[in-house]
Amino acid sequence: MTENKTDVLVIGAGNAGLIAALAAHEQGARVTVIEWAPKERRGGNSAFAAGFFRCAFQDFEEIRPFLHPTPTLPFDQIEVEPYTPDAFNNDLMRVTEGLADTKLAEMLVEQSLPTVTWMASKGIIWELDPGHAVQRNGRYFFRSASVPVAAKGGGKGLMDMLFASAEREGLEILYDARAVELLVDRAGAVEGVELSTPQGRIAFHSQAVILACGGFEANAEMRARYLGPGWDLVKVRGTRYNTGDGIKMALDIGAMPSGHWSGCHASMIDADAADLEADNADVTRYSFPLSIMVNQDGERFVDEGEDLSSFTYAKMGRKVLDQPGSIAYQIFDQKTLRFLRGPYSNSRAVVARSIEELAESLGISSQILIRTVEEFNAAVSEGEFDPSRRDGKCTRGISPGKSNWALPLDSPPFYAYAVTCGITFTYGGLRIDQECRVLTADERPIPNLWAAGEATGGFFYHNYPGASGLTRGAVTGRLAGLSAALSAKGRTMGQ
Ligand SMILES: Cc1cc2nc3c(=O)[nH]c(=O)nc-3n(C[C@H](O)[C@H](O)[C@H](O)COP(=O)(O)OP(=O)(O)OC[C@H]3O[C@@H](n4cnc5c(N)ncnc54)[C@H](O)[C@@H]3O)c2cc1C
Repeated sequence: MTENKTDVLVIGAGNAGLIAALAAHEQGARVTVIEWAPKERRGGNSAFAAGFFRCAFQDFEEIRPFLHPTPTLPFDQIEVEPYTPDAFNNDLMRVTEGLADTKLAEMLVEQSLPTVTWMASKGIIWELDPGHAVQRNGRYFFRSASVPVAAKGGGKGLMDMLFASAEREGLEILYDARAVELLVDRAGAVEGVELSTPQGRIAFHSQAVILACGGFEANAEMRARYLGPGWDLVKVRGTRYNTGDGIKMALDIGAMPSGHWSGCHASMIDADAADLEADNADVTRYSFPLSIMVNQDGERFVDEGEDLSSFTYAKMGRKVLDQPGSIAYQIFDQKTLRFLRGPYSNSRAVVARSIEELAESLGISSQILIRTVEEFNAAVSEGEFDPSRRDGKCTRGISPGKSNWALPLDSPPFYAYAVTCGITFTYGGLRIDQECRVLTADERPIPNLWAAGEATGGFFYHNYPGASGLTRGAVTGRLAGLSAALSAKGRTMGQ
């Protein structure tokens, strides 16, 4: 067994981990990052992300200074509505059914802009995402809550930039090293981590440990145990390495579990998508608010237009998992087809000139599908269809109803896309305070232990406002890095 030592040991080299490492290093701490994956597979779930960051700002001028112009979005042709801290907080509390921890929610919202701004100083190139803009008369409008801020090159670009920054600053990163156990002294203070490496076991000692090694989405046994039956069988959208190690290690030494342990972020992906690490740009199916969705029995089962997709997509995977065969079909006609997002072009749609023909191709009873569509069409109310906002164009008198964007499905040819459930990340994690120190059941910090990113609980319940995962990782990573570095030097935050 080799002996190794540092000030701050960061477990996990994803967005949360590298930001924690950079923040700790900025405070003058010696930092080592431990990563289970080999170098060529590095980046965690963060590298699979689309790269969008939800962040609150009162005025476009607050984000404009760090945004890089893109040729397709000249600044003189855009208008960006503010997304105030109140609006972010309201969205978070609304979609989590009022359950998000209020102190953590406040921390996430208030630190979102300072953190994104700080990341720019660490070399992250931010751009506006054209996909979130509404184009009208040659101008681009970003409505409030539309998430304009994106890392250049998506999640992969984000992680390339973070690794480049870490390498520039001379941070040590050990790959192929799996943290398996927290080392604890007789007083219960964490003093390092036991690693499993190709060379054998290594005890790595440190003044502080930051757990930034993800949730348990890639662990079928934990999914079945905590999320429930059937979840062991779902496809995993991101990394294979987030198997709950950090959470388990901390629980083993008395950390308090927190948040929605039976809840997770799960969205609709192409039914034929690979399990684990599929290319996000190919398999996501997020234009469902413009569709009607049916299951293999030909029945609708959900309000497709409950809200903008960024506020519903993360709970739609679960709805599909509950359907026969865990399959559903998103059906579009010629009125809505032109609004489909890019990834749809990467799969084979089932195309038919009539609903009867469509039913036959999908192996659904044509009698039932025709009845479902006729009932839906008859229930569509008057009103102006506007895909850029909640247009209130709804159905009346059917269950489930459709709250927005309800158009009769009557303009063939019809296009059907088969979708299934893909898990993104889990919501249950470790209880932390506003310095991201890991707490015990009696709410005391475990000495020398912090957590960041997916390993933390208390932020998301039932659902999630799109693009908050990277922001949560960045905010908690930065605070954990700062607090851990100060602690390692015998100081506290505020000193
Ligand atoms: C397809 C997809 C698209 C997404 N798009 C977005 C988006 O656009 N916006 C958004 O906000 N969120 C998005 N998310 C969610 C978001 O990416 C993640 O929740 C977030 O990046 C997690 O960051 P993290 O640093 O906590 O974890 P990760 O980035 O997963 O990093 C954890 C790291 O820990 C390592 N690790 C695990 N166990 C150990 C161990 N025992 N020892 C050492 N290392 C270990 C892993 O290998 C990994 O590198 C998306 C997720 C996916 C999968």
